Amino acid sequence: MNKCIKCTDNIYVTEKEIEEGMRKVIESGVPIADKSLYLERLKTCNSCERLVFGTTCMSCGCIVKIRALNALRICPHESGSKW
Ligand code: SF4
Repeated sequence: MNKCIKCTDNIYVTEKEIEEGMRKVIESGVPIADKSLYLERLKTCNSCERLVFGTTCMSCGCIVKIRALNALRICPHESGSKW
């Protein structure tokens, strides 16, 4: 499988958009992953075949920097969560 679950042709996001998404997660009141957990999650994503453009997970269509911030989220990899 090499197709993103949600993506269209326009899937590029800016750093500003990512920061805005991160701010929304923080302000939502959900538990936030601590720094070491967050960095470990991103490290896993960065070596995952489902990551495209360095930002987006093809398994959920999520921006991983935003998804990984929520401590309650899991990785949506089809073969099982990687974090
Ligand atoms: S499948 Fe999991 S590890 Fe891979 S990019 Fe998506 S969230 Fe990250």
